[in-house]
Amino acid sequence: MAYSYEAPVSQTLFDRASLVTPGGVNSPVRAFRAVGGTPRFMVSGTGPYLTDADGREYVDLVCSWGPMILGHSHPEVIAAVQAAVARGTSFGTPGEGEVALAEEIVARIEPVEQVRLVSSGTEATMSAIRLARGFTGRAKVVKFAGCYHGHVDALLAAAGSGVATFGLPDTPGVTGAQAGDTIVLPYNDLEAVRAAFAAQPGEIACVITEASPGNMGVVPPLDGFNAGLKEICAANGALYISDEVMTGFRTSKAGWYGLDGVRPDLMTFGKVMGGGFPAAAFGGRADVMAHLAPAGPVYQAGTLSGNPVATAAGLAQLRLLDDAAYEKVDAVSAELRSLVGEAFTKEGVAHTVSVAGNMFSVFFTDEPVRDYEDAKKQEAFRFTAFFHSMLEQGVYLPPSAFESWFVSTAHDARAIERIAAALPAAARAASEATA
Ligand code: PLP
Repeated sequence: MAYSYEAPVSQTLFDRASLVTPGGVNSPVRAFRAVGGTPRFMVSGTGPYLTDADGREYVDLVCSWGPMILGHSHPEVIAAVQAAVARGTSFGTPGEGEVALAEEIVARIEPVEQVRLVSSGTEATMSAIRLARGFTGRAKVVKFAGCYHGHVDALLAAAGSGVATFGLPDTPGVTGAQAGDTIVLPYNDLEAVRAAFAAQPGEIACVITEASPGNMGVVPPLDGFNAGLKEICAANGALYISDEVMTGFRTSKAGWYGLDGVRPDLMTFGKVMGGGFPAAAFGGRADVMAHLAPAGPVYQAGTLSGNPVATAAGLAQLRLLDDAAYEKVDAVSAELRSLVGEAFTKEGVAHTVSVAGNMFSVFFTDEPVRDYEDAKKQEAFRFTAFFHSMLEQGVYLPPSAFESWFVSTAHDARAIERIAAALPAAARAASEATA
């Protein structure tokens, strides 16, 4: 299929959107600010493909930023959604679907003894740190530079952008008071964590970390890092919160926990567990979760929490995610990583394909990337050229050099072949790019 690089219908829609919506998008990462050009307005998705408003088809390597691990419009998920919609869309009462989804999560992830359903990953992390503060009676929260936990006020400090050290808000609108109890430390640095606890004895409620970060590009924890966090938290009476919104139900049946086995006190989930709908969750130790209203005093609520359509979609998706599904996603990821690496090597482009389970991203550097400072040293301008060449050839990548690529069980030989065919020219464009 030939691709014309113009996108007139998307452009018209973007112009209309920009009049009524700030920046023309409802979530900043969707705009092409980092790479330039017109964001593609998608109208449909089937399996590994998306079709835009101009009628062009793309192999999708974003998968809605993670959720679509079975590909788009999986027939069994669609059928479950249709059946749920036909019964009604929201009751504001408890329903069996919520119980079944909670049971599925508890059955898959051993440290989760109790779970509360919410509607977004942001709500999950916001609620988890409130609960940690309520449970411990302490105020301070440790997070890591480059880790994103949603747009929670207290967690926006150094959230995959500027370098803040002690609780400097990254965005106007977050006050010093809201971020003042947030301690931002370099990722993969246990000494910094020990020093923070030593400097503020009895004040730190929790450490929150992405189970394996994917929001500064993919930067996995060094061996022993998560275990070290857990140990330091336990020794100091703080809670260890593992944010699995991105990795949960993606990197294995039990997410990142299924790979590293480090037992968090609390965990947060989203993306895959909603099957493409707004469903998310936080859960963990029963004695901690017992502090949540109405069982306990820490308030947390939601009109659409446990929505019957969202829970039906999530449950249908999770039930299809058996060992064979993860083997397939892992195999697709491995094949793509090797194709991508070969293409850059052939063109002499300095690069590192950074991997965490089946999540991966490319850093345009051959130096090791262990934290956000390392990630920012890459030649990100090469990504821009690479991205546009891939887009022009019908492959939709995340529009930023600092995002994970996502694949699905639906990425079959034909989809991989199309990516393979696009890579040589895109790698050449990356090699020829100038800052
Ligand atoms: N935590 C992590 C690790 C994420 O990657 C994200 C979103 O990308 C969030 C939390 C926030 O989730 P949501 O966008 O559903 O609010």
